[in-house]
Amino acid sequence: MKFNTNKDKKKKEKSKKYYIKLLDHWWSIQIKTHDNYTCVWCGKKHNEIIKKQISKDVFRDSKVMIQAAHIISRKKWSTKWDLDNGISLCAKCHLFTQPNAPVEFTFLMIKLFGYKKLLNLIERSKKKVEYSLDEYIQMCRDRNLLKEK
Ligand SMILES: [Zn+2]
Repeated sequence: MKFNTNKDKKKKEKSKKYYIKLLDHWWSIQIKTHDNYTCVWCGKKHNEIIKKQISKDVFRDSKVMIQAAHIISRKKWSTKWDLDNGISLCAKCHLFTQPNAPVEFTFLMIKLFGYKKLLNLIERSKKKVEYSLDEYIQMCRDRNLLKEK
């Protein structure tokens, strides 16, 4: 006899999270590799040493960290791991410039990807999807993210 307990349900949710994490990581690496680990906004490279201003006269060496940023919100599941939906930004541009200069960013995206490709991405992002656990596993399999015998 099979029981569907709360514990089973919890276990299943946890494993969904596991596959989501794998896909997030995969997507991030793909985007950063595509952009050669360079910020598309300011041009800084990953691990580049920069002078970071701590206070008025105090500067400290700091390493640039490149992150993969979503163009269309990562909350849209249908384009969450779409390779057209990402750009590389340094942590500073990701945190401050992108949210504070949305118009400038939109123009940069049009310049980088072209109008048609962006419209297409927007259309794809509108599709409502809810993946099952099996679909997550399949997506990971398709991207060779699972160690299988
Ligand atoms: Zn930057």
